[in-house]
Order: sequence, then C-alpha cells, then structure tokens
Amino acid sequence: MSHLMNTYGRQPIAFTHGEGAWLFDEAGNKYLDALSGIAVSTLGHNHPRLVDAIARQAGAVIHTSNLYRIPLQEQLADRLAACSGMDEVFFANSGCEANEAAIKLARLYGHRRGVDKPAVVVMEQSFHGRTLATLSATGNRKVQVGFEPLVSGFVRVPFNDLDALGKVAMNCPSVVAVLFEPIQGEGGINVADVDYMRAVRELCDRHDWLMMLDEVQCGIARTGKWFGFQHADILPDVMTLAKGLGSGVPVAACLAAGRATGTLQPGNHGSTFGGNPLACAAALATLEVIDSDGLMARAEILGERIRSSFAAALDGVSGIRSIRGKGLMIGIELDRACGALVDRAREAGMLINVTADRVIRLLPPLTFADSDADQLVGRLAPLVREMLEA
Ligand SMILES: *Cc1c(COP(=O)(O)O)cnc(C)c1O
Repeated sequence: MSHLMNTYGRQPIAFTHGEGAWLFDEAGNKYLDALSGIAVSTLGHNHPRLVDAIARQAGAVIHTSNLYRIPLQEQLADRLAACSGMDEVFFANSGCEANEAAIKLARLYGHRRGVDKPAVVVMEQSFHGRTLATLSATGNRKVQVGFEPLVSGFVRVPFNDLDALGKVAMNCPSVVAVLFEPIQGEGGINVADVDYMRAVRELCDRHDWLMMLDEVQCGIARTGKWFGFQHADILPDVMTLAKGLGSGVPVAACLAAGRATGTLQPGNHGSTFGGNPLACAAALATLEVIDSDGLMARAEILGERIRSSFAAALDGVSGIRSIRGKGLMIGIELDRACGALVDRAREAGMLINVTADRVIRLLPPLTFADSDADQLVGRLAPLVREMLEA
C-alpha cells in the first residue's frame, strides 16, 4: 500500500529528466511536453540559465526568512512592478496563497471603508485554489463539496456578463471587489472579452471596488503579453501570479496598485517561505530569459501557428466546437467528454490535459520550437479526429 495520501488519480508514469520541451521516463521513452506541469515550466526543462541561477543561489543562501531584508525579493518586486505597472508586491509560494492574500486585502480594504461584511464578486467556472477561502471563491461545485461550511462573503455571477455585474452593483452594497481570471484555465480556456475587462474596470472605479485579477495561470508572458490584462490596456488594483513565475520553483505573488496600495501593513499578513532567495533567483532568471530571448512575442506567434494548424488539420471534422485561447494558452473544445485523449496522447508520446470534461488544454513551454509545435499538431490532430469519428 502506498503511503501517499490519495489526493490525485495519477497517470502511470514517472519522469527521470527533461531537456527543452521533452521529458524522459524511467524506460527511456520521450514525451513532448505540451502541458509544462500545468503552465509552470515556462522555460521548459533543464534550461541552462535557470539551472545556473538556481545552483548558484543554492550555494550562496537558500532561505533567511522575512525577518530580514531579502535583496533578491526587492529586485524581483521592482522587476514585476516595471513589467506590470503595479506598485507593490507580497510574495507567497502558490497560487491559492497569492489569492488568499488578495481576498484578505479586499476584506481589509472594505473594513477600512466602514463595510461591515465585505463581499467579493467571483465568477462561474472560475478556479482560485484549494484552500478554504479560495475553494469557496471557485466556481466549481466539485471543488467545494464535502468542505462546507464554505467561507462566506462571495457573490457569484456568470463570466463575461456585464449585466450580471451591473445588477450586483445595484443590489449588493457590501461588495468591495471583483475577482476573476482574464482567461479561465481550469474552467476550459474561456477568454474574457477585452470590452468586458474595460467595462469591469470602469464599474470598479465608479463603485470604489477593487478589480482583482487571478493571473496565476495566464500571467508571465504566456498569452503573448506579460499579463492578460495588458490585452485590454487597463490596470487592475490587485493581481495574483504563481504557476509560470519560477519555472518550477514554487513562488507566487500578490501585487497591488492604485487604491489597493498600502492596504496590507505589518502584522496583517505573512509567509515563512514566501519570496525566499532561492525562489526569487528562479523567478528573476525566468523573467530575464523571457525578455532576452523574446519569448513573449514568440508565445503569440507560436500560439497562432498552433491554433491555425489545428484548425487546418481538423477542418471538416464534426464535433469540434471551438479552437481558442491566446498565445500558448490553447483550448480545443469538443462536443463530448474527451478525457480518454490524455492516455492516448501519452501513449503516442505527448503530454496534454483535458479540463472541463471536453476541452483539450495545451500549455506548452514558451521555449517550444517550431518543430515541437508541428509535431504536436501532426500527432495530436489524428487522435482527435479518430475519437470524433469513432
Ligand atoms: C492553479 C491555479 C490556482 C491555484 O494555484 P496553486 O498553486 O495550485 O495553489 C489559482 N488560480 C488559478 C487561475 C490557477 O490556474
């Protein structure tokens, strides 16, 4: 019997090492990684500059705690502020923790303005994590069931629906913030309209609400811009980051700007590990490589190439609902459940994911080569076709 707590239905495979977009299993077989450990391995595997930065930092100092200044954390905060336009950063270790910080910030912001029981508007099909507050914010009953009582103080509306949000503004005076993903990841690669994002910004300004964006999955250059909100030319008040930030080393961030700045003060929040020197070195190296290697532009071009190649390869196949996404955050929605494709793809040497039952989710590393993209489409499209024509 395994001593692992049974929280995951794991695939029967383990990897010994990786190189670029390829992972190698214990039997020496190789797999094209079109998932990046769920949008985490931004730079692929064994990237020399990342490995070097981590090894050097490990040899200098790994951890000191937030009881002392951490110069690398200050540098990383400066760097994130520069590429986002946000003002200040709190470092955590995972997406749910970054979102916990955002939710706490919103509540404190509300209390400071005399709102007794501040509420946060959240969306259907959203995913914000597995802690009690973030699973309560998540718009998926499967994530919540069995963990009641849920954390209160969330008001749920349909995604991308401005009228629904307008009604909340009329009827719920305790609302102090709106939290959503510019592109819903777990929910099936659902892209928020640019007009919706801009209208939410205006609504938040009008009602003194915080616009809080969960960019844990879509942030860090994956969509062809540093952050999803930049497609709409707006600035949120709060943004959370995690997955791709450290290319596999756990590091997360909650950023504040404008009227959210200065809300969290000493004693309000903290983290023992958050932003330790090792994590910050990995994140700084990730951001540097994205910049110096032009990976943002690359994500956009390659994403287009992959989407249009799939569209061509699957042209005329009935059962394809849509091929969507931005940059290297790609969803192919079918008219039926397609979880079985994960096994078939793996057997054909590809690592992919299916989410929301019927959406094939592709999140390749930003270092994916053109030849990797062509192999992915060349091998996966026939499997999709086969499944739909069976
Ligand atoms: C993965 C994810 C989270 C949770 O991150 P963890 O690191 O697993 O806690 C939160 N929000 C979004 C949008 C995510 O994709």
